[in-house]
Amino acid sequence: MKIIPLSEGAFTVDASKKFIPFKLSEDEMADRNRGSLLVEIQPFVVITADDIILLDTGLGLIDDDGQFQLYKNLRDNGINATDVTQVIMSHLHKDHAGGLINPYTRQLAFENATYHIQQQELDYALEIGSASYNTDLLELLQQSDNLVLTEAETGFIADGISYEVTGAHSKFHRVIWLNEGGETIFFGADDAPSFHR
Ligand SMILES: [Zn+2]
Repeated sequence: MKIIPLSEGAFTVDASKKFIPFKLSEDEMADRNRGSLLVEIQPFVVITADDIILLDTGLGLIDDDGQFQLYKNLRDNGINATDVTQVIMSHLHKDHAGGLINPYTRQLAFENATYHIQQQELDYALEIGSASYNTDLLELLQQSDNLVLTEAETGFIADGISYEVTGAHSKFHRVIWLNEGGETIFFGADDAPSFHR
């Protein structure tokens, strides 16, 4: 399997849940608002024998040239949006779910892909409607035929792809394992330590 990180850059985020670009080389950690987290937005694409799998989708940013950044990052690696066959979500915070929908067309960003989401995470996001989630976008997604929801705490998403709901970072956050040919990729998403101030 081949893993390709698709970085959208570093951002600082405080209680307002607004993502402010943070340049690691220029900006000072101490200048940020109190309680800020520094986050690196980085979906991954994994290429297996049969699939092109997107693990989370980033912020859904449009860059300075007016390009949908996720598409650009994929294209830079020789991948078209239509090539993606599976989109697997760890959780639905807006810095992970922003690229599920094309910001220009308001249609699914990956029309040929199956979108895998944990049912309780979607229900929770739509119900709570907090600043951490983009509910407009999730409502659009909900109408899609490409959506496959899982409910069990652990299980399989597809052949060789399993998950476990871990909570911790968000109520129904899950972690993912991809197995192929004796290799294992673990995707822990936001269940990871981060710098906190
Ligand atoms: Zn998150």
